[in-house]
Amino acid sequence: MQYINKESDREAGNKITEAYLHEIWIEDEQRYPVDYNDSFKKLPNKANSYYKQMTQVLLNNQNHYCCYCMRRLTGEGDTTLEHIIPQTADDKDALYYQRDEFPMLKKNIKLSVLFSHEHNPDLAQLPHSVCYDNLVASCHGMFPTTKHGGDIETDGHSCNHPRGAKCALPLYFLEEINTIITYEINGSILANPDSPWCEEAKELIQSAQLTWETLSDIRALWYVLRDIDINQIIAEGKNEQSRMDLIQDNLYLTEYSEKRINALIAKFTKKQYWECFLLYDWFHSYHWNAA
Ligand SMILES: [Zn+2]
Repeated sequence: MQYINKESDREAGNKITEAYLHEIWIEDEQRYPVDYNDSFKKLPNKANSYYKQMTQVLLNNQNHYCCYCMRRLTGEGDTTLEHIIPQTADDKDALYYQRDEFPMLKKNIKLSVLFSHEHNPDLAQLPHSVCYDNLVASCHGMFPTTKHGGDIETDGHSCNHPRGAKCALPLYFLEEINTIITYEINGSILANPDSPWCEEAKELIQSAQLTWETLSDIRALWYVLRDIDINQIIAEGKNEQSRMDLIQDNLYLTEYSEKRINALIAKFTKKQYWECFLLYDWFHSYHWNAA
């Protein structure tokens, strides 16, 4: 996981929310009827909605990586906006997130349902469903899955969708995130038992389903190919035969079981799995906990 510094793009993010609020203002009633699922996605027009504008600001803020799984994102059909304090949260739910360690969630946000009903609210605290500080860019968690009979389909397995409204503290807002959540050379993801955030890290990993098998396999394969130049990986991966050679030759150098090696070769020789693998190049430069 990478540290996300919300400070750097807050001004751009808040500008979008404020422009949106300006547009939905009901003069007669002196209030803002915030509607994330409708007007935020449609105004000022569908092609360049506030939702889409916010997506680009968040992706820029996150170096174009999913906040949870580190998939590379473009914002075109591959990105969803994740609400840290869930859209459906009530006051009590929100308190779980509004801690001293996450001042942006404590100071800058008001629940949308309260904000929308308030008479002429001030904009020091923005409605949580459309507020930059409560939003992060997440992938849709779609992975190729081999069905019975060998057909390959694509299903959602990680990140925003499985998380839903489950508890998931934004540990990626902590500068030491790299020591809280780590990855092992077999591809598994771990909550560091020595971290004071260990329990919350376990919860986050579980809520976003970051232990999904294909995701673990992808991380393992990046570890295996870590010393090969990224351009060479991309070039050799283009053709099925050279892709198989690349994967096979390097996997045989590992201490993985024969069963795992064969499973990895079978998976990533397939074009769909390989293309998904390439989206996770963040792991190529990860400092593995390797012996
Ligand atoms: Zn993701």
